[in-house]
Amino acid sequence: MMIRAGLASPEEVEESLAEQERLKGAGVQRRLGEIMVERGIVESGDLARLLSRQREKLRVDVGEAPGGVAILELFGALDDENTRAVLDGALAGLLGRGRFEIVVDCSGLNYMNSLGVGVFVERAGELRREGGDFHFCRLPARGADVFGILELDRVFRVFGGRAEAVAAFARRAGASERPEAVLAASRLGRTYHRPECLAVRAIAAYNYVEFHSFREAEGSGRRPCAKCRPRES
Ligand SMILES: [Zn+2]
Repeated sequence: MMIRAGLASPEEVEESLAEQERLKGAGVQRRLGEIMVERGIVESGDLARLLSRQREKLRVDVGEAPGGVAILELFGALDDENTRAVLDGALAGLLGRGRFEIVVDCSGLNYMNSLGVGVFVERAGELRREGGDFHFCRLPARGADVFGILELDRVFRVFGGRAEAVAAFARRAGASERPEAVLAASRLGRTYHRPECLAVRAIAAYNYVEFHSFREAEGSGRRPCAKCRPRES
C-alpha cells in the first residue's frame, strides 16, 4: 500500500516488517505504519491520509446498456471483506433479475486485490451456465497490473472501452442482424482496427478511441489495419 502510494520503497517496507517481527519476538505488538513513522520513512500526516483513503468504501453503480447488458461501475477500493460483501450483494441482485451479461467498468477503481477478484471468479460459473459472462473494461493502469499479476485476463475477457465490452456480448450471441461494427484505434495511431485485433489489445486505456462507422473512422484520417482488415466481413 505504501509502495503503491509512492511513500516508501520496497526495501524500506521490508526493513520495517523485519523490525515489526523483531518487536513481536520481544512481545511488543506494533502497527507497521507506526514503525515507519518512528523510523522517519513516512510523515505521520501522509500516513493518516493514506489510511483514510484505504477506508474509503466501495461504491457500485448498476446500469444497463442497450440489449439488456448490465453495466457494473466500481468506485473506490475492492480489497476486504466489507467491500467484497458490497460487490457480491450487487451481483446477487443482478443474477436475481436474470442479468447474466455483465460489463464491469473499473475506471473508478483505485485498487482491487485477489479477495475482490475472487468475487468475480466465484460468480463467473453461474453467469456462464446461463450463457453470460463478465466483460471487464476501462481498467486503470494499477488495476491492469493487478490483473496481469493474477493472470486474470486468462479467466476473463478484458476490453479497452465500454462499448466494445458490450458489443462483444452481441457478437457472441450471434445476433442475426449484424450490428454496425465498432472500430477501435489508438489516439496516436494512423490505422483503425476490429476490436479483437491484437494491435488493439496493446493500446493503453488512456489512448484508446472507438468509432461506430467506417465513415467516422476514416473521417478521422485513419486507414484500415492491414492485419485485421476491418473492411472485409
Ligand atoms: Zn488491426
